[in-house]
Amino acid sequence: MNLILLGPPGAGKGTQAKYLVKKLNNFQISTGEMLRDEIKKDSEIGKKIINDMGDGKFVNDEIVNKLIKNIIFDPKKKNKLIFDGYPRSISQAKNLELMLNTSNQKIDFIFFLNVNKDMIVKRIEKRKILEKRSDDDLNTIFKRYDTYMETTRPVLDFYSKNSNFYEIDGTLEIEEITAKIDGFLNV
Ligand code: AMP
Repeated sequence: MNLILLGPPGAGKGTQAKYLVKKLNNFQISTGEMLRDEIKKDSEIGKKIINDMGDGKFVNDEIVNKLIKNIIFDPKKKNKLIFDGYPRSISQAKNLELMLNTSNQKIDFIFFLNVNKDMIVKRIEKRKILEKRSDDDLNTIFKRYDTYMETTRPVLDFYSKNSNFYEIDGTLEIEEITAKIDGFLNV
C-alpha cells in the first residue's frame, strides 16, 4: 500500500507517517529528513542545499527527484511507501505519477491534514524547542507557510478529485487523527 500525507508545515505529517510505518510495516519517505541528513553528513548535496533550507526555500527539483527516484525503484520498498513532504508542487506530483507508473505502482490513499496558520505557528514554536531545527524560527515559518500556499496548495486540487483523497481536521489531537486514518484505511 502506498500513501501520501499532505498538509502545511507543522500539520503533523511526520508524526502520522511514523505511526503508519509501524502499523503497516512501510517506509517513511520524508524528503525534509533526507535533506537534513545530507546537511549533517556535509555531503556535496548538503553543501548545495544548506542555505536554501535554512531560509525556508524549496530545494531544487533535480536534487529532490533524484532522492525520491532511488527509493521508488528500490524493490524492497515497492508498494510500501509513505510520502511525507513530497510532492510539494505540481511538477513534483507529475514526476511522482510518472515514476510510479514506470515502476508499476500507484497511490492507494492521500490524506490531507488541514491546519490553520495560528495552530502551525504554535506547533512549530514548540517543535523548535524539542528538535532544534534551524528552519523553525518565526520568520522562516512564515516564509515556509507562504511557499506552501503558493506552490504546494495547488497540489491539493491535483489530487482532490480522486476517490482516494481524504481531508482530515489536522487540529485534532494526534490520537484522534490516527483513529480517522485507521478508519479510512479500514485496518
Ligand atoms: P519538512 O521537513 O518536510 O518540513 O521540510 C523541510 C525543508 O526541506 C523544506 O522547507 C524545504 O526547504 C526542504 N524540502 C523538503 N521536501 C521538499 C520537497 N519535496 N521539495 C523541495 N524542498 C523540500
